[in-house]
Amino acid sequence: MFAVRKQKEDMSKLILVFLGPPGVGKGTQAAKLAEDLKLPHISTGAIFRDHLKRETELGKQARSYMDSGNLVPDELTVSLVMDRLGQPDCERGYILDGFPRNLKQGEALEKALGQRGESITAALNFDAPRQVLIDRIAGRAEKEGRKDDTPETVKNRLEVYDAETGPLTPWYREKGILHDFDAQGGIDEIYAGVKAAVEALKSQG
Ligand code: AMP
Repeated sequence: MFAVRKQKEDMSKLILVFLGPPGVGKGTQAAKLAEDLKLPHISTGAIFRDHLKRETELGKQARSYMDSGNLVPDELTVSLVMDRLGQPDCERGYILDGFPRNLKQGEALEKALGQRGESITAALNFDAPRQVLIDRIAGRAEKEGRKDDTPETVKNRLEVYDAETGPLTPWYREKGILHDFDAQGGIDEIYAGVKAAVEALKSQG
């Protein structure tokens, strides 16, 4: 009796992964959806930036990688995320933004979820032409002044994305859980597509 109920609960847990290159606007979409669904928005980039600001030990270890636009080592990143996913506010589900960032992280996530009898509900993949990304980051750089939004670092971040994160797209597509979104439009227009896809997923669950 209990086992049946537990399984049903797990099925209704919404675990979403947001994928896409820097500047595509996935963080904005993830934040909107998180607010709508009242689910935690877990952005590894935001968590790392907070550590940088507070000058924690993790922040000190992550700084040079972030400033140059490289990935923070998996050992640091995976344990940080696993810890976060075990917190009580994640019980109904969560939105992962910026994690996983390579196949190793993807496999670590899959393994950890499998051990809990859970799985990713869907991976939402956002894409837009390179020039659109570069223009958006330039706009964001003026507004937010992120240290890793300089032209040289952006170039590296895009290369790192292609080499490391890109392979996650066909990986999730093969698993049948990838949903593609054209991120060229306005925020609300893109969000309408996201919301419709997630509502469809929820009604299937
Ligand atoms: P973001 O805000 O997602 O663009 O992330 C900013 C920076 O944080 C990245 O360029 C990486 O240095 C670091 N970072 C964020 N998420 C990860 C991750 N999953 N793995 C490794 N490094 C990450």
